[in-house]
Amino acid sequence: MDLKVELATNGELKKKPTDPLNLPFGSVFTDHMLIMEYSGGEWQQLRIEPYHSLELDPSAMVLHYGQGIFEGMKAYRSDNQIYLFRPDMNLKRLNASAERMVIPTVDAERVLEAIRELLRIEREWIPEEKGTSLYMRPTIIATEPKLGVRPAHEYFFYVILSPAGPYFKEGFNPISVMVSEKYVRAVRGGVGHAKTMGNYAASLRANKESSKAGFSQTLYLDALERKNIEECGTMNVFVHFEDELATPPLNGTILPGITRDSVIQLAREWGFEVSERPIPIQEIVEGIETGHVLEVFGTGTAAIIAPIGVIGYAGEKYKIGDGDVGDLSRRLFDEITGLQHGLVEDRHGWVEKIT
Ligand SMILES: *Cc1c(COP(=O)(O)O)cnc(C)c1O
Repeated sequence: MDLKVELATNGELKKKPTDPLNLPFGSVFTDHMLIMEYSGGEWQQLRIEPYHSLELDPSAMVLHYGQGIFEGMKAYRSDNQIYLFRPDMNLKRLNASAERMVIPTVDAERVLEAIRELLRIEREWIPEEKGTSLYMRPTIIATEPKLGVRPAHEYFFYVILSPAGPYFKEGFNPISVMVSEKYVRAVRGGVGHAKTMGNYAASLRANKESSKAGFSQTLYLDALERKNIEECGTMNVFVHFEDELATPPLNGTILPGITRDSVIQLAREWGFEVSERPIPIQEIVEGIETGHVLEVFGTGTAAIIAPIGVIGYAGEKYKIGDGDVGDLSRRLFDEITGLQHGLVEDRHGWVEKIT
């Protein structure tokens, strides 16, 4: 493969964290990174280099116009084997985000092969304790030094790796979410379906208000009618009704989560009636009161499944079930994390073992 590798010298190697179970998310990075520049109308050679800071011109276009995208994916280690979960989907989505933001797409297969090589080099950085993983952050930024709103002619692609502790430190526990009546996340025709940087900057104000009100995340409503639920923070959301598992449809405002897709497939195979349909917040709060809503949960690479125990809406607090983790949430969490660690039989071809 066309990959140039420059390894860090022994003196440059960092100290690895000694207690992976208590690692704060996204604060420690490994010894190497994967990089690739785009110039002269094409992507240049993939390179693995010692982790280093970037030098950007203050006029680099990403710094002004936010032309940047990223991915979030994980590698897992058990019995000294490295596992990836549906990594082709992450590369496909990176390219879909690129299309939307007029960023040149990458050769997914070549990039994935280089990521595998990076993981072989950083093998010792992947924690093995239950619930831990190595979080990977592929990113593309517009680096051309130029003011003026148009697609850049120069880009920088990189992948950095960060060992991550378990998402649920005090065990698998429900979170609380507040429905934002003031702020929205995305509108049809906008960029809600792309993992692009500005979406996350735009969410900070709503999150601040949710947390001030004592909730851990924000549940967004659709921008046009403020009627149907959309996403919960950076997670897709599912509602388990007595006779149905429902999630909002991919209509342009929803990020097409890979965990979301996996949950839909697994639940269908387990015999659940799964629908992708608009879900009015009113239907949920009424369903909570009548007992027709059994569970609500978020899905995403970070938490896998985040059970929602309380929804705050219009000044009221709605408690779901007995406040404990629901059966389906637990079953999905066990199945997906089991698959990711190579402990559950992979009938879908979702799990890749790196040799
Ligand atoms: C990344 C992300 C998700 C979850 O996607 P996964 O592929 O399951 O990790 C959901 N919503 C938003 C807004 C996201 O950025």
